[in-house]
Amino acid sequence: MNPFNELGIRHDIVNAITELGFEKPTPIQESAIPVLLSGSNDFVGLAQTGTGKTAAFGLPLLELIDYKKNFPQALILCPTRELCLQISNDIKNYAKNLPNVSVVAVYGGANIVNQLRDIKRGVQIVVATPGRMKDILNRKAIDFSQVSYVVLDEADEMLNMGFQEDIDEILATTPSTKKTWLFSATMPREVRAIAQNYMTDPKELTMGTKNTGNVNIEHEYYIVKARDKYAAFKRIVDYNPEIFGIVFCRTKIETQEIAESLVKDGYNADALHGDLSQQQRDKVMKRYRDRSLQLLIATDVAARGIDVNDVTHVINYSLPDEIENYTHRSGRTGRAGKTGISIAIINSKELHKIRQIEKVIGKQFSKAEIPSGFDVVEKQLFGLVHKVNQVEVNDQQIDQYIPRIMVEFADMSKEDIIKRFVSLEFNRFLEYYKGARDLNATADDRGDRKERGERSERGARGGSAGFTRLFINLGAVDDFTRGDLLGYICNNTGISGRSVGKIDMKGVFSFFEVEEEHVQKVIDAFKPIDFHGRDVRIEISGESSGGRDRRSSGGERRSGGSFGGERRNSGEDRRSSGGFGSGERRDRNSGGGFRDFSGKRKEDRKDGASSREGGRRRRNN
Ligand code: ADP
Ligand code: MG
Repeated sequence: MNPFNELGIRHDIVNAITELGFEKPTPIQESAIPVLLSGSNDFVGLAQTGTGKTAAFGLPLLELIDYKKNFPQALILCPTRELCLQISNDIKNYAKNLPNVSVVAVYGGANIVNQLRDIKRGVQIVVATPGRMKDILNRKAIDFSQVSYVVLDEADEMLNMGFQEDIDEILATTPSTKKTWLFSATMPREVRAIAQNYMTDPKELTMGTKNTGNVNIEHEYYIVKARDKYAAFKRIVDYNPEIFGIVFCRTKIETQEIAESLVKDGYNADALHGDLSQQQRDKVMKRYRDRSLQLLIATDVAARGIDVNDVTHVINYSLPDEIENYTHRSGRTGRAGKTGISIAIINSKELHKIRQIEKVIGKQFSKAEIPSGFDVVEKQLFGLVHKVNQVEVNDQQIDQYIPRIMVEFADMSKEDIIKRFVSLEFNRFLEYYKGARDLNATADDRGDRKERGERSERGARGGSAGFTRLFINLGAVDDFTRGDLLGYICNNTGISGRSVGKIDMKGVFSFFEVEEEHVQKVIDAFKPIDFHGRDVRIEISGESSGGRDRRSSGGERRSGGSFGGERRNSGEDRRSSGGFGSGERRDRNSGGGFRDFSGKRKEDRKDGASSREGGRRRRNN
């Protein structure tokens, strides 16, 4: 038996939500539903993002509606079209076993004629954005004189968007006996004011501590120089090949630009903001919900309240102007009990904002390091290996080619073949990240001082004190062990094992430390050898101090190393030239959409509309 029954929800509805995976009520549902079912109070429900507030009001509404009466009995107001569609779909899903419920979604940008027709057919629950709702009321196309319940979802955002007057006008058409319910994740001043303006003696329920963030979300920040932000962001994405993320920018223009750059660089990204046509917004949302889009680049407004399953990362490309918005942003992940990561990419001057946010969400951020080029390459490599392992083979189609392919590879060992296939994809990354700089900037922060200390312990060339760190292009995948390495060094140079420091075996390469005085000897010892027919490349590692070191040791580099070639001028900032993707990363099919509205952006700029969203400007949604 599903505990929702005991809360007073009828079987038909419980069966429907059980199918949706609701096995037991969330805390806000458990507390709010009995109160709301009494239908006797105004109500304020504060609960973290992703804790099921929609059902907390949606289920009681479905219980309280009189299905025999065919007029509007409940009105739900929310800030955006996306949220409006989401809420109306959710409620329709809860109600799918009930024969006579009619829910209509009313929002701007879509054909009003269809909405008017739906309303005319008879509607019991209206889900609406304020602007369009007011238009419809002005046309006298709907009668709210018998509305019993009004729900304000994400009310503060509606006010931010300048909908106050519309809301006032809409509510003035509802009877004074109606009950008003407000749901929010945060309780900024605005929400407090709404409670005072629109409600009488509301019952207030707060789940957890007020304004605190979702416990299932980990918060991390990265400190980079402003000019490295885009490159750093790409590294984070590259380091997480399975990312399914929402990236927040502060303005529509920034949102659009980042999305365009990402697409150019071969990522599967698209933008969602208020300057897109409604069709474009719908298309983007649909692609993201279907997971055919990997990165959704969005403004605060556009993504408020959005519920997409299994978002792995929220990335704050720019921090929000208003701290509350951080909670709403990060709350797009870690929903329905799942976990998620919220990342902020900041410059050192913004650290105080992180501290402010920490106070508001009641949780600490951890400082994270932008992964080095090597880390990314390794991660991508094993991502690829994993994919190869998991790929579905279509025997029927491929069989016809196999004999010819076998002939091609007849003289190669399994190991060689694997290496070649992997290198094919992998060389691109390696090329892109070769000599990649360290993008971490330091900050005047206590936590960072320790780190600087750690670094200064290292020798000038980036190893432990007195040691130099070397790179070698042999690693675990070569069946090349620590012992092999140590043995070779000792046997061929005569230095003792004690002169060799930390050995860090990676996938296709390794790092090891050698006492500074022996470095040249070790490098020379490796020069003449090959490893199973493969050129061995050894050089001083520039990992911790960036490309400069490597360049200075460039004399060691032999061209034609096994990783495929000469070092190009390393440049993550090769935005325009396309980075490693060059638009050809096949797994990230860059979908369309951008061409359609690039014209619009120019206009946007011409207007001088710096168009900071979240301003008090009125937008039609
Ligand atoms: P909020 O408005 O609090 O941010 P939503 O109402 O959008 O959260 O719900 C977040 C997610 O949790 C949705 O995907 C929803 O289907 C799911 N959900 C809601 N209630 C339950 C429940 N009782 N059990 C399992 N999942 C639930
Ligand atoms: Mg919600």
